[in-house]
Amino acid sequence: MTELLFRDDGYLRSCAARMIGSDERGIRLDRTVFYPTGGGQPGDTGRLRLASGAEVPIVDTVKGDAPDEVIHVPAPGSMQPAVGVEIIAEIDWERRYRLMRMHTCLHLLCAVVPGAVTGGSVGDGRGRLDFDVPGASLDKDAISAGLNKLIAEGHAVVPRWIDDAELEARPELVRTMSVKPPVGAGKVRLLEIDGVDLQPCGGTHVQNTAEIGPVEITKIENKGRQNRRINLAFVG
Ligand SMILES: [Zn+2]
Repeated sequence: MTELLFRDDGYLRSCAARMIGSDERGIRLDRTVFYPTGGGQPGDTGRLRLASGAEVPIVDTVKGDAPDEVIHVPAPGSMQPAVGVEIIAEIDWERRYRLMRMHTCLHLLCAVVPGAVTGGSVGDGRGRLDFDVPGASLDKDAISAGLNKLIAEGHAVVPRWIDDAELEARPELVRTMSVKPPVGAGKVRLLEIDGVDLQPCGGTHVQNTAEIGPVEITKIENKGRQNRRINLAFVG
Protein backbone atom coordinates (compact mmCIF):
# COMPACT_ATOMS: atom_id res chain seq x y z
CA MET A 1 0.00 0.00 0.00
CA THR A 2 1.18 3.48 -0.84
CA GLU A 3 0.52 6.60 1.25
CA LEU A 4 -0.99 9.10 -1.18
CA LEU A 5 0.46 12.45 -0.08
CA PHE A 6 -1.08 14.40 -3.01
CA ARG A 7 -4.57 13.71 -1.65
CA ASP A 8 -4.11 16.00 1.33
CA ASP A 9 -1.66 18.43 -0.24
CA GLY A 10 -1.61 18.84 -4.02
CA TYR A 11 1.22 21.39 -3.72
CA LEU A 12 3.84 18.89 -2.51
CA ARG A 13 6.57 18.70 -5.15
CA SER A 14 8.72 15.99 -3.60
CA CYS A 15 8.92 13.54 -0.71
CA ALA A 16 11.31 11.05 0.82
CA ALA A 17 10.16 7.49 0.17
CA ARG A 18 11.32 3.88 0.24
CA MET A 19 11.24 1.35 -2.61
CA ILE A 20 8.73 -1.40 -1.77
CA GLY A 21 8.49 -3.15 -5.12
CA SER A 22 9.55 -3.18 -8.73
CA ASP A 23 8.45 -5.28 -11.72
CA GLU A 24 7.95 -4.96 -15.48
CA ARG A 25 5.09 -2.50 -14.92
CA GLY A 26 7.09 -0.11 -12.79
CA ILE A 27 8.17 0.98 -9.33
CA ARG A 28 6.14 1.03 -6.10
CA LEU A 29 6.97 3.29 -3.13
CA ASP A 30 5.74 3.38 0.48
CA ARG A 31 4.57 6.98 -0.07
CA THR A 32 4.35 9.27 -3.07
CA VAL A 33 3.56 12.73 -4.43
CA PHE A 34 2.95 11.24 -7.94
CA TYR A 35 -0.72 11.31 -9.01
CA PRO A 36 -1.70 8.19 -11.01
CA THR A 37 -3.82 8.59 -14.18
CA GLY A 38 -7.49 8.70 -13.23
CA GLY A 39 -10.65 10.79 -13.24
CA GLY A 40 -9.63 12.37 -16.55
CA GLN A 41 -6.33 13.68 -15.13
CA PRO A 42 -3.07 12.33 -16.60
CA GLY A 43 -0.46 10.72 -14.35
CA ASP A 44 2.56 12.70 -13.17
CA THR A 45 6.03 12.65 -14.66
CA GLY A 46 9.23 13.41 -12.76
CA ARG A 47 12.18 11.55 -11.25
CA LEU A 48 13.36 9.37 -8.38
CA ARG A 49 16.64 10.60 -6.91
CA LEU A 50 18.99 8.17 -5.18
CA ALA A 51 21.48 9.06 -2.46
CA SER A 52 24.29 8.25 -4.94
CA GLY A 53 23.11 11.08 -7.16
CA ALA A 54 21.68 8.68 -9.76
CA GLU A 55 18.21 9.43 -11.13
CA VAL A 56 15.39 7.30 -12.50
CA PRO A 57 13.26 9.37 -14.90
CA ILE A 58 9.52 8.67 -14.42
CA VAL A 59 7.56 9.05 -17.67
CA ASP A 60 4.07 8.16 -16.38
CA THR A 61 2.18 7.16 -13.22
CA VAL A 62 -0.71 4.69 -13.19
CA LYS A 63 -2.88 2.86 -10.68
CA GLY A 64 -2.00 -0.69 -9.68
CA ASP A 65 -4.38 -3.57 -9.03
CA ALA A 66 -4.87 -2.90 -5.30
CA PRO A 67 -6.69 0.20 -4.02
CA ASP A 68 -4.24 3.06 -3.40
CA GLU A 69 -1.49 1.19 -5.28
CA VAL A 70 0.58 3.55 -7.43
CA ILE A 71 2.94 2.40 -10.21
CA HIS A 72 5.75 4.81 -11.19
CA VAL A 73 6.68 4.00 -14.80
CA PRO A 74 10.43 4.47 -15.43
CA ALA A 75 11.85 5.58 -18.78
CA PRO A 76 12.81 2.53 -20.89
CA GLY A 77 16.32 1.29 -20.10
CA SER A 78 16.70 3.17 -16.82
CA MET A 79 18.21 1.54 -13.74
CA GLN A 80 15.92 -0.12 -11.18
CA PRO A 81 16.77 0.71 -7.56
CA ALA A 82 16.63 -2.27 -5.18
CA VAL A 83 13.73 -2.85 -2.81
CA GLY A 84 14.33 -1.08 0.53
CA VAL A 85 16.38 1.75 -0.97
CA GLU A 86 15.53 5.28 0.21
CA ILE A 87 14.89 7.79 -2.57
CA ILE A 88 13.50 11.28 -3.13
CA ALA A 89 10.42 11.27 -5.38
CA GLU A 90 10.03 14.53 -7.28
CA ILE A 91 7.32 15.46 -9.79
CA ASP A 92 7.58 17.81 -12.77
CA TRP A 93 5.91 20.62 -10.87
CA GLU A 94 5.34 23.09 -13.72
CA ARG A 95 3.37 20.47 -15.66
CA ARG A 96 1.44 19.27 -12.60
CA TYR A 97 0.49 22.84 -11.67
CA ARG A 98 -0.91 23.43 -15.18
CA LEU A 99 -2.90 20.18 -14.83
CA MET A 100 -4.20 21.30 -11.39
CA ARG A 101 -5.29 24.65 -12.81
CA MET A 102 -7.05 23.05 -15.78
CA HIS A 103 -8.65 20.33 -13.65
CA THR A 104 -10.08 22.96 -11.28
CA CYS A 105 -11.29 24.95 -14.29
CA LEU A 106 -13.29 21.93 -15.52
CA HIS A 107 -15.16 21.91 -12.19
CA LEU A 108 -16.15 25.51 -12.89
CA LEU A 109 -17.28 24.53 -16.39
CA CYS A 110 -19.71 22.03 -14.75
CA ALA A 111 -21.24 24.97 -12.89
CA VAL A 112 -21.50 27.21 -15.96
CA VAL A 113 -22.99 24.71 -18.44
CA PRO A 114 -26.36 23.10 -17.69
CA GLY A 115 -26.56 19.36 -18.39
CA ALA A 116 -24.97 16.15 -17.17
CA VAL A 117 -21.27 15.55 -17.81
CA THR A 118 -20.72 12.39 -19.87
CA GLY A 119 -16.93 12.49 -20.22
CA GLY A 120 -13.88 14.65 -20.11
CA SER A 121 -10.15 15.01 -20.17
CA VAL A 122 -7.56 17.24 -18.50
CA GLY A 123 -4.66 18.09 -20.81
CA ASP A 124 -1.51 20.17 -20.49
CA GLY A 125 -2.76 23.72 -21.13
CA ARG A 126 -6.09 22.53 -22.49
CA GLY A 127 -9.07 20.45 -21.44
CA ARG A 128 -12.53 19.30 -22.49
CA LEU A 129 -15.83 18.12 -21.08
CA ASP A 130 -18.73 16.40 -22.85
CA PHE A 131 -22.25 17.43 -21.83
CA ASP A 132 -25.60 15.82 -22.42
CA VAL A 133 -27.58 18.86 -23.61
CA PRO A 134 -30.60 17.83 -25.70
CA GLY A 135 -31.31 20.21 -28.56
CA ALA A 136 -29.63 23.19 -26.95
CA SER A 137 -27.16 25.39 -28.75
CA LEU A 138 -24.38 26.59 -26.50
CA ASP A 139 -23.04 30.13 -26.63
CA LYS A 140 -19.24 30.06 -26.74
CA ASP A 141 -18.80 33.68 -25.66
CA ALA A 142 -21.30 33.41 -22.81
CA ILE A 143 -19.57 30.29 -21.47
CA SER A 144 -16.16 31.97 -21.72
CA ALA A 145 -17.45 35.04 -19.87
CA GLY A 146 -19.11 32.93 -17.15
CA LEU A 147 -15.96 30.87 -16.61
CA ASN A 148 -13.61 33.85 -16.44
CA LYS A 149 -15.95 35.59 -13.98
CA LEU A 150 -15.84 32.60 -11.59
CA ILE A 151 -12.05 32.40 -11.98
CA ALA A 152 -11.53 36.10 -11.26
CA GLU A 153 -13.88 36.03 -8.24
CA GLY A 154 -11.30 33.92 -6.40
CA HIS A 155 -13.45 31.19 -4.85
CA ALA A 156 -11.82 28.93 -2.26
CA VAL A 157 -11.32 25.29 -3.36
CA VAL A 158 -11.61 22.83 -0.47
CA PRO A 159 -11.28 19.03 -0.53
CA ARG A 160 -12.90 17.10 2.31
CA TRP A 161 -13.85 13.56 3.20
CA ILE A 162 -17.38 12.51 4.02
CA ASP A 163 -18.62 9.08 5.14
CA ASP A 164 -21.81 7.32 4.10
CA ALA A 165 -23.51 8.15 7.42
CA GLU A 166 -22.93 11.89 7.03
CA LEU A 167 -24.08 11.77 3.40
CA GLU A 168 -27.28 10.06 4.53
CA ALA A 169 -27.80 12.60 7.30
CA ARG A 170 -27.33 15.52 4.91
CA PRO A 171 -29.35 14.79 1.74
CA GLU A 172 -29.06 18.47 0.74
CA LEU A 173 -25.38 17.82 0.00
CA VAL A 174 -26.22 15.22 -2.64
CA ARG A 175 -28.83 17.52 -4.16
CA THR A 176 -26.27 20.28 -4.67
CA MET A 177 -23.67 17.96 -6.20
CA SER A 178 -23.14 18.08 -9.96
CA VAL A 179 -21.98 14.45 -9.92
CA LYS A 180 -23.53 11.82 -7.62
CA PRO A 181 -21.15 10.10 -5.18
CA PRO A 182 -20.53 6.35 -5.45
CA VAL A 183 -22.69 4.51 -2.91
CA GLY A 184 -21.37 1.93 -0.46
CA ALA A 185 -17.72 3.02 -0.73
CA GLY A 186 -17.81 3.95 2.99
CA LYS A 187 -15.92 7.18 2.52
CA VAL A 188 -16.01 9.69 -0.34
CA ARG A 189 -13.62 12.52 -1.13
CA LEU A 190 -15.55 15.65 -2.07
CA LEU A 191 -14.24 18.73 -3.81
CA GLU A 192 -16.04 21.94 -2.93
CA ILE A 193 -15.59 25.22 -4.75
CA ASP A 194 -17.12 27.65 -2.31
CA GLY A 195 -20.54 28.77 -3.52
CA VAL A 196 -20.00 27.26 -6.99
CA ASP A 197 -19.66 23.48 -7.20
CA LEU A 198 -19.62 20.36 -5.07
CA GLN A 199 -18.83 16.88 -6.36
CA PRO A 200 -16.91 13.72 -5.57
CA CYS A 201 -13.39 13.94 -6.99
CA GLY A 202 -10.02 12.34 -6.21
CA GLY A 203 -7.87 14.57 -8.41
CA THR A 204 -5.49 17.43 -7.60
CA HIS A 205 -6.74 21.03 -7.58
CA VAL A 206 -5.51 24.56 -6.90
CA GLN A 207 -6.59 26.23 -3.61
CA ASN A 208 -8.28 29.23 -5.18
CA THR A 209 -9.97 29.71 -8.57
CA ALA A 210 -7.92 32.89 -9.19
CA GLU A 211 -4.85 30.64 -9.68
CA ILE A 212 -6.40 29.24 -12.88
CA GLY A 213 -5.87 32.48 -14.81
CA PRO A 214 -7.74 33.54 -17.97
CA VAL A 215 -9.17 30.80 -20.21
CA GLU A 216 -11.05 30.68 -23.51
CA ILE A 217 -13.50 28.27 -25.10
CA THR A 218 -11.66 27.17 -28.25
CA LYS A 219 -14.32 24.96 -29.82
CA ILE A 220 -17.76 23.47 -29.19
CA GLU A 221 -18.31 20.24 -31.12
CA ASN A 222 -21.41 18.15 -31.75
CA LYS A 223 -20.62 14.58 -30.75
CA GLY A 224 -23.93 12.85 -31.38
CA ARG A 225 -27.50 14.13 -31.11
CA GLN A 226 -27.36 15.20 -27.45
CA ASN A 227 -23.66 15.32 -26.83
CA ARG A 228 -21.72 18.61 -26.92
CA ARG A 229 -17.96 18.67 -26.43
CA ILE A 230 -16.62 21.92 -24.97
CA ASN A 231 -12.88 22.48 -25.51
CA LEU A 232 -10.99 25.13 -23.61
CA ALA A 233 -7.44 26.39 -23.20
CA PHE A 234 -5.43 28.84 -21.14
CA VAL A 235 -5.10 32.28 -22.74
CA GLY A 236 -1.46 33.21 -23.44
ZN1 LIG B 1 -11.58 17.39 -9.45
